[in-house]
Amino acid sequence: MTTTYRHSAAFNDLAALLTGQLVLPENANYEQVRQLFNGRVKTQPAAIARCLTVQDVIHTIRWTRSHNLPLSVRGAGHEIFGRSPIENGVAIDLSQMRAVTVDPDTRTAQIQAGATASDLIEAAQQYGLATVTGTISSVGMTGLTLGGGYGSLNGAYGLAADNLLSAQVVTADGQLITANAEENADLLWGLRGGGGNFGVVVSLEFRLHPLTTVLSGLLLYPLEQAREVLHRFNEFIATAPDELTIRSGFLQTPDGQTMLFLSPTYCGSIEAGEQAIAPLRTFGTVLVDRMQPIPYHELIHSQDAYPPKGRHGYLQTRSLKGLQTETIEALIEQGLPLPSPFSAINIHHFHGAASRVGASETAFALRQDHLMVELIAAWEPQDDEQRYIQWAQNLSQALAPYAFKGGYINLLDEQEQERVRLAFGSNYERLLDLKRKYDPDDVFRSTIGHLAPHSLTR
Ligand SMILES: Cc1cc2nc3c(=O)[nH]c(=O)nc-3n(C[C@H](O)[C@H](O)[C@H](O)COP(=O)(O)OP(=O)(O)OC[C@H]3O[C@@H](n4cnc5c(N)ncnc54)[C@H](O)[C@@H]3O)c2cc1C
Repeated sequence: MTTTYRHSAAFNDLAALLTGQLVLPENANYEQVRQLFNGRVKTQPAAIARCLTVQDVIHTIRWTRSHNLPLSVRGAGHEIFGRSPIENGVAIDLSQMRAVTVDPDTRTAQIQAGATASDLIEAAQQYGLATVTGTISSVGMTGLTLGGGYGSLNGAYGLAADNLLSAQVVTADGQLITANAEENADLLWGLRGGGGNFGVVVSLEFRLHPLTTVLSGLLLYPLEQAREVLHRFNEFIATAPDELTIRSGFLQTPDGQTMLFLSPTYCGSIEAGEQAIAPLRTFGTVLVDRMQPIPYHELIHSQDAYPPKGRHGYLQTRSLKGLQTETIEALIEQGLPLPSPFSAINIHHFHGAASRVGASETAFALRQDHLMVELIAAWEPQDDEQRYIQWAQNLSQALAPYAFKGGYINLLDEQEQERVRLAFGSNYERLLDLKRKYDPDDVFRSTIGHLAPHSLTR
């Protein structure tokens, strides 16, 4: 199949159907268009359909299926393990479909599926509104939301997926359908955390919240105090108010020192926020205190340089009930020193509104308070990757006995299929039913939430 379609005229008729460019390996911009955020990903699609319209998406699905080629879908390109482009298949690229429309009266925003967190938040902030995004501005809202969506507003407003009100989806047979509370409500349920397994989402509608400035930033503590600070942090979060969501972990400062960080975000009044975070300053010696009132749209840009696009990366995750002596020891004894300057341990804080959603209300099943630990290894392209991958995998194994069995489907690697099933828990069977209904031929194999094809036939 590769030799038939690569560098051949076979794609001419698809190219003629599209308003956007069909990028082939022989095109000068192929390498640049193919590139994901993670430079480690080398997957080579036979063609990349840079869709500009819903009709482009429909044509691409129909043409690709009629030629028996595999399909993949990508938006902003932050999938870590390289599944959004597909080897020798056709990648639907929505990264140019980024329009956002805000309705301040209904406090909702419509986005095209290629829109990033930044696109949405910049448009909403003009009306004093915002919604849940990840922590970095360039991450795609669609990929983020389909897997769940951890971020600094989880405590107050739930996951990004909890704020998804409606979506338009092109199904495997090229039909454009709407999924919302009235129409195809089962599909909306599945799109809220069930992964990109049911079709190509072309637009989404999000609930917005009145929010402009938050109190946020960074507190850095010396490594010698990490155990004490993390124990106190663990006690503290048990009663943290919804408005306060605190990322934590270890990073390397530009001068090469490894430090423990707490990164609180408080999304109520600044005075109340100052009071709420005051105890954090007593947990240890705060070497750097960069807490400040900051507009939310600026906050999500503040980490844009970390890690830089194109660096090679690998990541493992574990979701913990909390931090106990054993997990704190594992993080410090096995996790440190970090393997390189841009490597980090980044711990998301899931609580409050996100935990109050029932486990079967959306496809995203882990609705207990927890800490989602990201073990992020990043290295220069010329380095031997095994050392970094091993660091993340070993630390992940050390945390596993204390972790929930499943995982965050947006960040599971291909060898972790069993954790996908466990992540969905009792929702898994319902997702298989959706798959049978909306994508019975298993065209959309978003491995991030892959629903094993053999389980589609009863
Ligand atoms: C630097 C960085 C920071 C991150 N920060 C966070 C964070 O703070 N919180 C968090 O929860 N996650 C975070 N992530 C993980 C992120 O949620 C996932 O990588 C997510 O898949 C990225 O979405 P994307 O649209 O940018 O990626 P893409 O690579 O474009 O897409 C990823 C996958 O999503 C599916 N998909 C995307 N668009 C569509 C569509 N229109 N229709 C159907 N399926 C689609 C496809 O299966 C695709 O393979 C981060 C990742 C990176 C690299």
